[in-house]
Amino acid sequence: MPELPEMETYRQQLTRLIQNAPITGAEVTRPKSLNVEPERFIQKLTGNRIVHIDRRAKHLLFHLSSGEVLLLHLMLGGWMFFGTEEEKPDRTTQVVIHYGDKHLYFIGLRLGYLHMYALPEVATLLSKLGPEPLDAGFTFARFQNVLKGKKGNLKVTLVDQSFLSGIGNCYSDEICFSAGILPLRKLSTLTEEEQHRLFLAMRSVLLEAIQYGGYIDEPLFVGDRLTGQFDAKCRVYDREGEPCLRCGHPLVKTEVSSRKCFYCANCQS
Ligand SMILES: [Zn+2]
Repeated sequence: MPELPEMETYRQQLTRLIQNAPITGAEVTRPKSLNVEPERFIQKLTGNRIVHIDRRAKHLLFHLSSGEVLLLHLMLGGWMFFGTEEEKPDRTTQVVIHYGDKHLYFIGLRLGYLHMYALPEVATLLSKLGPEPLDAGFTFARFQNVLKGKKGNLKVTLVDQSFLSGIGNCYSDEICFSAGILPLRKLSTLTEEEQHRLFLAMRSVLLEAIQYGGYIDEPLFVGDRLTGQFDAKCRVYDREGEPCLRCGHPLVKTEVSSRKCFYCANCQS
């Protein structure tokens, strides 16, 4: 599932590709991906523009010039492609937004959705999300504050969207590895020094992943050299049995609350 760096990469690239471009139409082949009737969706979009793209947690918010917001969550298996009909990958699309002879294709949007809301509704919907780990105001002191009184282990807490926004299965493991802390550690047992290491690891891992375009396999457009470069840079995720890059011991895979979890049992403690 795309996490903060993947959605941030989409946000930055789509801003360059579609911001302020006139929408010439739309197509819906899976009405369940929307929260409004397809006819209304198409009518609302045609002649409209996306004037600004925001990201909050794993969502993108497409702000329309008419004031509404399209709220996108790709969930498991969702991705996007921008280009002409000839360039389009041979995959089923659920929603398409037309920009003349180019199109924004939403692919694999089965669990995911593209919902239309008035701006205040979106604010309410997203109000339960935890802080954004890369916000300038999210200091170590604030991080310590959200850790306070937290029970449970590190892995489960890091992926909890009400605790922090945008971290999922892959980056929780990468952050724990970078910090040298076991994902199964109870939060209550972390020393202040470990909390600080975790805070720094969280920032550096997420920033590096954004710099390398996240881990999504599929390019956003023909000639896209950014998207997915971080996949080759993951240190532990999906690397069961491979030697640890820090100490050489084979990496371990386990399951934590039915989530895949990868770590080095030798140099994480
Ligand atoms: Zn190791």
